[in-house]
Amino acid sequence: KAKQHGRNDYQWYTDDLTQRVHERLILRGDLQQAIELGQFELYYQPQVAVHNGQMCGFEALLRWNHPERGMISPSIFIPMAEATGQIIALSEWVFKRACRDAVMLCTKLTEGAAVAINVSPLHFQRSSFVAFIQRMLDDSGLDPQCLELEVTEGLLLNNIEDAIDTLQELKDKGIKIAIDDFGTGFSSLNYLKRLPIDKVKIDKAFIDDVNEDGRDAAIVQSIISLAHNLQLTVIAEGVETDEQLAFLAKHDCDEIQGYLFARPMPFGDLIRWISQWRQRPEGRL
Ligand code: C2E
Ligand code: MG
Ligand code: MG
Ligand code: MG
Repeated sequence: KAKQHGRNDYQWYTDDLTQRVHERLILRGDLQQAIELGQFELYYQPQVAVHNGQMCGFEALLRWNHPERGMISPSIFIPMAEATGQIIALSEWVFKRACRDAVMLCTKLTEGAAVAINVSPLHFQRSSFVAFIQRMLDDSGLDPQCLELEVTEGLLLNNIEDAIDTLQELKDKGIKIAIDDFGTGFSSLNYLKRLPIDKVKIDKAFIDDVNEDGRDAAIVQSIISLAHNLQLTVIAEGVETDEQLAFLAKHDCDEIQGYLFARPMPFGDLIRWISQWRQRPEGRL
């Protein structure tokens, strides 16, 4: 019986593995064509100020609407595209689209807000990255103040000096820089001191149990004071409950983003969301 059980396990394991390898090969080939076929779409998730509920940003989040597989999560295809180099074409597409949408969102609909774009480490490390961003600004006519780049520590691992120079060049143009997934990497504090950034995003992992786990509460409180002492804005991602919001408000977190207010949504839905949000009771979150 044990033997049989073992063999079944093995069978299951190989099938699963084979299938995953197979899937990955298919996806890899598909990705190539998917851009031209228009299978990618940008969703946007609002970011709002804790003290008055004002809209301060919209994070662009990539979606792949695959004809057979349905919506494929970016946490599956982004790492894959990063590994094959296909992320460059994908990232260029994202910037082009997001800058165009940002003109509408931030200069016409919500003054003072910015569109936040996740930066691929591979794209960022190219010597042409800053010139590419400038071209995106020129082509779209977007005010650099309306553009925010979300970078992760992964971007700093190879050559920290070059990374700092690149970030400084972008900041000098008036573009905002946010550190994404803050607290999940390592040597964050050492980087934080030297990086020319504007904002820290507290990772969802610390927010999830912030009302139940005293250690998460301590970490979140400390990140908020640390950010403020360094003159940085701080935003919490993945806020899902009123209790989490209450905690963050009590501890002076500046902005929040999460399902509590809005999920990432297609551009058209966002336009409707914005006009509804505007009609909420005065100053209410
Ligand atoms: P991220 O930048 O940390 O994005 C936040 C993720 O948390 C998003 O997942 C978002 O949908 C999700 N989220 C936001 N609020 C909540 C909440 O209240 N509850 C829960 N459960 N989740 C929430 P998503 O859209 O699946 O994106 C995953 C990751 O893929 C992103 O993490 C980012 O690293 C990457 N990514 C997405 N779009 C792009 C892109 O255009 N370019 C690049 N280079 N990376 C991207
Ligand atoms: Mg992000
Ligand atoms: Mg994040
Ligand atoms: Mg995250």
